[in-house]
This record gives sequence, structure tokens and C-alpha cells, in this order.
Amino acid sequence: MIAAQLLAYYFTELKDDQVKKIDKYLYSMRFSDETLHDIKCRFRRELENGLGRDTNTTATVKMLPTFVRSIPDGSEKGDFLALDLGGSNFRILRVKVTQDKKQPVQMESLVYETPEDIIHGSGTQLFDHVAECLGDFMEKQKIKDKKLPVGFTFSFPCAQTKLDEAVLVTWTKKFKVSGVEGMDVVKLLNKAIKKRGDYEADIMAVVNDTTGTMMTCGFDDQRCEVGIIIGTGTNACYMEELRHIDLVEGDEGRMCINTEWGAFGDDGSLEDLRTEFDREIDRVKRPLNQALFAASKEGLTKCKEILTRLGVEPSQEDCVAVQHVCTIVSFRSANLIAATLGGILTRLKDNKGVARLRTTVGIDGSMYKMHPQYARRLHKTVRRLVPDSDVRFLLSESGSAKGAAMVTAVAYRLADQTRQIAQTLAEFRLSKAQLLEVKKRMRTEIENGLGKNTHDSATVKMLPTYVRSTPDGTENGDFLALDLGGTNFRVLLVKIRSGKRRTVEMHNKIYAIPIEVMQGTGEELFDHIVHCISDFLDYMGMKSARLPLGFTFSFPCHQKSLDAGILVNWTKGFKCTDCEGEDVVELLREGIKRKEEFDLDVVAVVNDTVGTMMTCAYEEPTCEVGLIAGTGSNACYMEEMRNIETVEGNEGRMCVNMEWGAFGDNGCLDDIRTQYDRAVDENSLNEGKQRYEKMCSGMYLGEIVRNILIDLTKRGFLFRGKISETLKTRGIFETKFLSQIESDRLALLQVRAILQQLGLDSTCDDSIIVKEVCSTVSRRAAQICGAGMAGVVDKIRENRGLDHLDVTVGVDGTLYKLHPHFSRIFHQTVKELAPKCNVNFLLSEDGSGKGAALITAVGCRQRAQEAQQAAQQA
Ligand code: ADP
Ligand code: MG
Repeated sequence: MIAAQLLAYYFTELKDDQVKKIDKYLYSMRFSDETLHDIKCRFRRELENGLGRDTNTTATVKMLPTFVRSIPDGSEKGDFLALDLGGSNFRILRVKVTQDKKQPVQMESLVYETPEDIIHGSGTQLFDHVAECLGDFMEKQKIKDKKLPVGFTFSFPCAQTKLDEAVLVTWTKKFKVSGVEGMDVVKLLNKAIKKRGDYEADIMAVVNDTTGTMMTCGFDDQRCEVGIIIGTGTNACYMEELRHIDLVEGDEGRMCINTEWGAFGDDGSLEDLRTEFDREIDRVKRPLNQALFAASKEGLTKCKEILTRLGVEPSQEDCVAVQHVCTIVSFRSANLIAATLGGILTRLKDNKGVARLRTTVGIDGSMYKMHPQYARRLHKTVRRLVPDSDVRFLLSESGSAKGAAMVTAVAYRLADQTRQIAQTLAEFRLSKAQLLEVKKRMRTEIENGLGKNTHDSATVKMLPTYVRSTPDGTENGDFLALDLGGTNFRVLLVKIRSGKRRTVEMHNKIYAIPIEVMQGTGEELFDHIVHCISDFLDYMGMKSARLPLGFTFSFPCHQKSLDAGILVNWTKGFKCTDCEGEDVVELLREGIKRKEEFDLDVVAVVNDTVGTMMTCAYEEPTCEVGLIAGTGSNACYMEEMRNIETVEGNEGRMCVNMEWGAFGDNGCLDDIRTQYDRAVDENSLNEGKQRYEKMCSGMYLGEIVRNILIDLTKRGFLFRGKISETLKTRGIFETKFLSQIESDRLALLQVRAILQQLGLDSTCDDSIIVKEVCSTVSRRAAQICGAGMAGVVDKIRENRGLDHLDVTVGVDGTLYKLHPHFSRIFHQTVKELAPKCNVNFLLSEDGSGKGAALITAVGCRQRAQEAQQAAQQA
């Protein structure tokens, strides 16, 4: 067009002058790299204005969301129809996408006339016509009995709020149909199809031709994330991060943005770069440009022919001049497009946070295809303007309609996939009614564990701990403590000072327990423990002091006194022989004897829940519940002696170690357990045991996630259907990765980086799914843990005949402490399920160590009292 304008000028006014003279006029059209760089930056700013909530209305580049969220991943398949309305022809296509390597896409198409009276008629006429053509096409394809997904390339400016809805803003080009502007074209078409009633169609997507181009190229090259049209008009789209698109909800993943960059400069921001010819163009339009491009392509003879046809009699020089003009004008166009494309590419690069951008740009349009120098010039300039990049330019093969089919194919795949993933995860989403049921069943199991006749067969063992009171602040002395049963084994020295300024001073050392010891013989385990104690005493220089010791042993133990605990069974990662059914205090004492190096006074065997409760109770007297949400899951609380039928006496209270991890071992939770829970259980050291714990503690959450991921991959929804060796590896998905992945501060790119670390090569979509899997699994964990806790606090309330209970729960465990959502969801659930209790949560500072020392102190005091009583009696 601009060239045409120039030529008109040339033939009327410059007829006698030569090329050099034209050059002078054309000089203003040559841009230096500096200028191009400047345009690139201006465009980048304008693009950002278009994305911003406050700046969008005044921005010239409208940045329209397309609701296309995903480029093809090559796994699309199916039979699709595509309508292409808005180009020179109305076309209908049938596109079959298969997994056939040689010919993945097969197309058949028909062009239909759009009579003039329809182009200027009513909306009803237009859509009746479209529906009729579609019916005819389906008839010819013999698919009228099928309901195929349809993609609709509708190349007019539309406001979209979802993929299958497009409200026409205004007609452009030659169309002027009444009653369509402001309407959703999908609705209009559906109405027309329904009215006919002879076939059905499922219109899944409306797309713009730029998006179509990107998607068409994206099927062949998955790096393609930009689409450009350089034809009669020019426009571009690219994949933007959703979090930067203020006009669309959500901030995960990406969405294709139709930039409508043709309007760049409409506010006068490019005025300094426009020539008088550009301005003239806005007023006069002449249909010369097509001919001119053809001229420059096909040489002088052709040029002459065309010019003659146009009614001028050109000389040889004229023809040379015409070509010259064409070259310069098209160079300028290539340069301008390179600059704006450069703006998009630097934006992509920044979004990805990479040092070097690797990407593919899909292009369509006659200008780019036909003009021999154009493409080369564009590529060269882009590479100069965006130096740290490897940009591949891919020509779109079959134009916009195929793209609509590709969008539909992706939408179809995603819709199907989303539905199936949602179905899979729905099992993990528990309703309030289900959670209340969990609470109720927990209550039943609590009663069974406490009852004299039901205790033996009970799964929640409700083990008496012989801790009868929480600390009173008079505890005093130096104590040793052992902490066994978690990730680490520790030996501690705890110095408790009572009085006005109560202090607790602790020294500790962490020791590893090798896996072969964890799963070796009991003697080996206790020899190892004693060896570590010996090392610690050396380290502290106190081998000769015979200190009282509290043994935090976080496994279910039957206690008949404070200093005797018979191991019921191992849990978590432990499986030593000759320990179950034995008193672990006795095993420890024997170990010390074997060593013959030092002597210790083992005063108390302590569960970590109890240690946690005691530690918090030392600071906060209302603390009467202890909870662990770490490797395992367990709780304890102060129960009325009269309810503990397994211990003599009805006075006062005693702390009960619930061992609630075993909740469900009688099958009472089987209705909410999923195939993934069963898989995790089957692969564990203690199959069938600790079913509740396996649904809600740190040791297992990652494994549940891994099992779901394997299944989703097998079904082709993840990692391109390939199960990597890493994913097959048990335990690789540690719970700390759940915490990282679920962190709100993390961009998807970082999620991908984490998965990369794990050896899982993921796409953006993969990482969204993985994140959703993680948060679904951890949410259920927090909820069922909360349901259990609601059962406990409500029981305490009822024990005391209260309408309302204020109580504090002391909590320990890395899952609770470090997971970004676990504690919040847990609190919320307790509140919802136990509305008559006001529950506070207090984090325990090293419950297992400090708590053990406090219990030992209480035990020493009790022992002294008993000795005194005995002496008095004697
Ligand atoms: P334990 O329960 O073994 O005494 P912790 O309370 O420290 O010890 O819990 C350790 C467990 O916490 C690990 O086994 C792991 O499952 C989980 N974990 C570790 N790091 C994290 C984290 N960042 N977020 C959530 N859970 C974690
Ligand atoms: Mg612990």
C-alpha cells in the first residue's frame, strides 16, 4: 500500500527524475538499529500497558486474551471440523489428527460461496447459511450422525471470556451483517444448527488467525509460542504468563494473547517515524500493493506487465525504480515487524528468566511467503535486535483453519484430560459430611481403645503413659534424654531450673541410624544407641555422672509404669528383630550393661506426643493435648482416669498415647482410601498397618503423590506419557518437595526446576497438574488429621460436661511446621468440625528432648515421694 502510494507519486510528479532522487525521499524510511531498538522498547511498553488492568483501556495494543492456554504437545488425536470465516473464502475443513508419525494430520476441505446478500444481510441469514454449509459438508463426509468437535476461525475482533464464546466487537473487512455486533457468535451458530435439527456439532473454540497460525506450527514444533500474520494486514499473538494478564483470573500457566499490534502507533506514538506517504495512506487507499509485491518477486517483465495493466506505460528505468521502491518499502516493513517481534521475544525471555531464549515463531501471510527478500531481512534483523536468542521461523502450512482444528484438538484433549484428572483427584476431596464421619469413627475407636473388654481388639490402642499431670514449674535438675523414632536419633543434656526465672538449657548431638541398623537385630540397635550415648558423654565430659534419663521412644508401647514400655509393634521405617513384645527400657539397660562403660538411671519411657504436650504445658497450662505431624502422625491427651478402664483407679487424669496412626487398620476408613493409598500401603514395611498415618504423615504423602503421578503418566496426561526411571524410584518424592511445589511464592517455572532436579522433565502444563496433585494430597492429609483432632477435643469437652472448651494443643513435626498450607487447613478443619471448642495451637520447641526431661523430673519427684512414704512406713 505504501509502495503504491509512493509509486503514484513517482508517476505523477517525479516522472523525469531518477532513482537517486527517489532515494532521497526514501531515506527517511531506512531505520538505523538504534531506531529499531527504540521501536522495540516502545512496543514492549505498549504491550505491557495493554496487559495492565489500569492501562488497558487507554492502550492502543489491546492484548486480547484468547483463552488458548496450551500449545499442542503432539499427543492430540481425534476427528475435528473447522470453519474459517473472515478470510477471502468461507472454508470448512475436516481435520483428522492421529499419532501416525508419517502423516499425523489429514485434511479435507471445501470452499463455500458467501453470496453478497448474506454479507450485507441479517445475522440469522448468515448463520443459517453457515449451518447449511456445515450440514452439506458433513453430508458429503458421511459424518452427519456424529457429533464432532468444531473449531471456528472467526477473524474479526472479538471479546472472549472463554474459549468457546466470542462476542463480536465490530465487523471489519467487507462484512456488514446486522444484529451480530455485541453478540456471541457461538450462540448464534448453535442456534442456527439446532433450528435445523438434522445434525449436531460441538463448537469448542473460536480463534483468531494469528492463534491459528501459532497452533498449526505448534503441532510440528512444540517450542512455537508466537504467531504472526504478515499479509493484507499484520498481527501477532504469543504465550504470556497468566499472572501478568490482569484481565483474566488466575495466575498459573500461560495464555495466548492476541496483541492486535496493527494498532500500534494509533495514539501518535510513532508519529516521528511516519513519512508523508504513511499519512497519505490513511486517507487514500489504492489496490496496488498486491501487484507490486508480485512485481518485485517475479522480476522486471512481470513488473512491466502489471504496470501496463494498471494503465501506465513504463520505461525500463521506471520498472527498475518501481522495484527499488518496493524493496525499500518492504525492507522497512520487515524492519518494523522485526522490532515489534523483538519486543515480544524479549518479553518471553524475561518471563522465562533465561539467559538465552530458544523459541519458534509461526508465520503466515502472503507478504512473508511471496516476497523473496522479506523473510531473510526479517530474520536477520530479529537476530540483531534480540541477540541472546535462537529463534526458528516456521511457515504455517495450511493457514488459519487448520489452526482452529488444532486449538479444538488441544481443547478437546485438555477438556478430556482435565475431566479425568479431576475424577481421579475427586476421591481425595472429602466433603464435610465425610470428615464428620471420620471424626465420629475416631470417637468410636477411642472408646474401643479405652474399654476394658474392647481394648485387646482395638486398633487405636489408647495407651496409658503414667504421666498423671502436666508440669507445675517446680521441676529442677540435670537430665539426659534420648530421642528415637524420628528421622534423627539424638542424645540430649537438659538442665531445668525452677524458681522465679525458670530456664531450660539444652545440649544435644544428632546421630544417624543406618538403615541396616533400623532393620537389623534389636541387639544391634541398642548397642548402637549405647555407643552414641557413650560418645555424647565423652563429648560433654560427664561419663561418671549417673544422671536420670528419659527415653523418648516414639513407637506404640504398652506401659505398666512410667519406666517400662513393651513395644507393641514397630512403625515408620523401623523393623528390628527381637524387640516387639519386649520392654524397651530393659533392652536399653542391657545394652548399657554390655558396654560396661557407664551407668544410667532410666526413669521414664516417653512417647514424642507426650513430650510435646509436656513441653508446651510447661509454658501454657491449658495445653492438654499433644500432636505430632512429622514422619508419622500421632496424638495424646489428658483423659479422665475413670474412662481409662485398662488402668486401676478413678481419680484424676492420665495422659493417653492414642497411637491414632493405626486408626482404620480394622477397615473402618476403607471407604475413603483410594487405590493410591492401597498401593503405598502394599509397598510399605508394615502392610495393612497404620492406615490413617499413611494418609496424613510426612513419610507417606510424597509416595501417594508419586503413585498418582505414575498413574496419570500411564494414562498419558503427564510427562508425555513416559514413566522415567526416577518416577519409578520409591521415596524420591520427599514431602519437602510437596512443601516447595505448593509454596505460593513459587512461579511455575520454579516448580519445573524442582521437578527437573528430581529428573522429571516437565512442561508447564505438567507442573500445573503436579502442583494440583500435591495440594490435593496434602489438603486431605490436613483435613483428616483435623477430623481426628476434632474428635479428641470434643471428647475432652464432653468428659468435663462443658458446653464450651478452651484448650491448647502442643504440636511438633516438620510437616506441620514447614508445609505452606498444612497447619492452616488443619486448624480450619478442627474449627469447623468441633465448633464448641476453642482450640489454640502452640508449636513445641523440641518436645522430644525437653519434654522427656520434664517427664523424667516429674518421675524423679514421684519416686522420691514414694521412697519417703516407704521409709515412713518402715
Ligand atoms: P520426626 O517426625 O521424624 O521426629 P520431623 O518432625 O522433623 O521428625 O519430621 C520429619 C519428616 O517431615 C520427614 O520424614 C518428612 O516426611 C517431613 N518433612 C521434611 N521436610 C519437610 C518440609 N519442608 N515440609 C514438609 N514436610 C517435611
Ligand atoms: Mg520428632
